[in-house]
Amino acid sequence: MMPEFSPQALDALRQPLETGEVSIARVNHRTTYPARFQLAAAMNPCRCGGGPGAGRCRRGPRCAIEYQARLSGPLLDRIDIQLDVPGVTAADLALPAAAEGTAQVAARVAEAREVQQGRSGGLNSALAPTALEQVGALDESGQALLSQAAVSLQLSARGYHRTLRLARTIADLDGHTGVLRRHVAEALSLRRSWASPIEGSMASVSS
Ligand SMILES: [Zn+2]
Repeated sequence: MMPEFSPQALDALRQPLETGEVSIARVNHRTTYPARFQLAAAMNPCRCGGGPGAGRCRRGPRCAIEYQARLSGPLLDRIDIQLDVPGVTAADLALPAAAEGTAQVAARVAEAREVQQGRSGGLNSALAPTALEQVGALDESGQALLSQAAVSLQLSARGYHRTLRLARTIADLDGHTGVLRRHVAEALSLRRSWASPIEGSMASVSS
């Protein structure tokens, strides 16, 4: 549960998430260590668990607002995929298993990683913005969508590049050489707007 950590501890993640390194400064000494990692985290809408909508919270909307405010905007800006996860209902449990199993997805991911290595000698996550703009060149309608979203979602420069990076990866998983509008749309749908508090539990991944 991410908001249970202190805001200072959470914000200390910003540097390694951005640079893949962590610097420790003492009186006469400063050392830098490698720290490339993938962050996967989860949180409830409020401390009571289910959030105001689930009837388990008696403190009202303030409870969720205060709890979610423990995660700073700059930290959230560095998290690429943010998903609302609604509660599981009895009807969900009766559904058939997903068509694509874990092994098939793992094979598709391995293939996409190979394509990325072959194209630029590294993974999309390690590309500098200029290199990313070359390998993530968008078609006209994809570019129009991203530019429009950058204004309406008030994307930071970092948010813009992180969305482009995710769209490139989605296109790789889709087996596409070019990045299309639908890849951009999917990447944008995974970058949630923080104007309104989340309703269900949340899972998030940053790479
Ligand atoms: Zn609550």
